[in-house]
Amino acid sequence: MGILENTACILCKENTVETVQEIETEAISTLYKDRLGISIASEFHSHKTIQYVKCNSCNLHFFTPICNGSSAFYELLQEKQDFYYNSNRYEFFFAKNFIDPSHHVLEIGAGSGYFADLLATKNYTGLEYNDKAIENAAKRNVTLINQSIQDFAKTHQEEFDVVCNFQVLEHVPNPNEFINACLETLKKGGLLIIGIPSANSILTNNKNHVLNFPPHHITRWFNDTCYHFETIFNVEVVDIHNEPVPKKLHKNLLTNRLTERVLNLFYTKKHIFVNDTFAHKVEKIIRKLITKVGLVKRVKEGKYPFGESVILILRKK
Ligand SMILES: [Zn+2]
Repeated sequence: MGILENTACILCKENTVETVQEIETEAISTLYKDRLGISIASEFHSHKTIQYVKCNSCNLHFFTPICNGSSAFYELLQEKQDFYYNSNRYEFFFAKNFIDPSHHVLEIGAGSGYFADLLATKNYTGLEYNDKAIENAAKRNVTLINQSIQDFAKTHQEEFDVVCNFQVLEHVPNPNEFINACLETLKKGGLLIIGIPSANSILTNNKNHVLNFPPHHITRWFNDTCYHFETIFNVEVVDIHNEPVPKKLHKNLLTNRLTERVLNLFYTKKHIFVNDTFAHKVEKIIRKLITKVGLVKRVKEGKYPFGESVILILRKK
């Protein structure tokens, strides 16, 4: 398939975007219904199909037209998944190493403010849209502000030593604008820390991974896109760190790897959506087989370097 006219990359803005797969929105709605039990059809407005595209300049993968989740969608999701805000994420502990007690820290999409709990600094500001999460944080004396980074940046230029966001960027409809707003609030030489799901990981970037589709995720991030930040923004890449695969996910890792291998025999390798009745069946059989044969204990720790998240450490020039 050729370059899509009139579609610029939402990260680097180049007109070098091409379709990887065209997907019917009804099929994605059915996937959410079957796998998570939630109805999301209205989230796609009147769009019958959605394009999964990649940018040939920065390799960002994203879905267009942009259908990012409404607040009603996130409320539904929270009801179904009480683990939605996690207090001890690997990325929190990794990011914490870059923050001194004297630093002024801004976090965007702070959730219930669990990252603030881990920090020694008293100079913490968090932005969050979810009122329930804000209430939750207030109970633990973490004050969060319900405001967008774009609005907040207008009155807080070059104020912070560290600006961070975890599991936010992949939900954002305009990542270019979002990152530039983050950078405006940073002092020169300050750090922007971003935690996102890694598209290099088979734990998150496998076929029919429901939460990796719109309206939940809009974008998919490979490591090479992360290295591209230096050419798009006024930053220097300090580190791109992939979370290792923890032992408790070894079974998922094996299941996803083997399922993907089988599905690739029947479908185009780079396609991310396939018949879900078939995909779900294959996955179930493989999971059972893995248990029966006792394959999990044969997974060597550290052999698969790409865990669920990747953490970017960027310095503002
Ligand atoms: Zn691009």
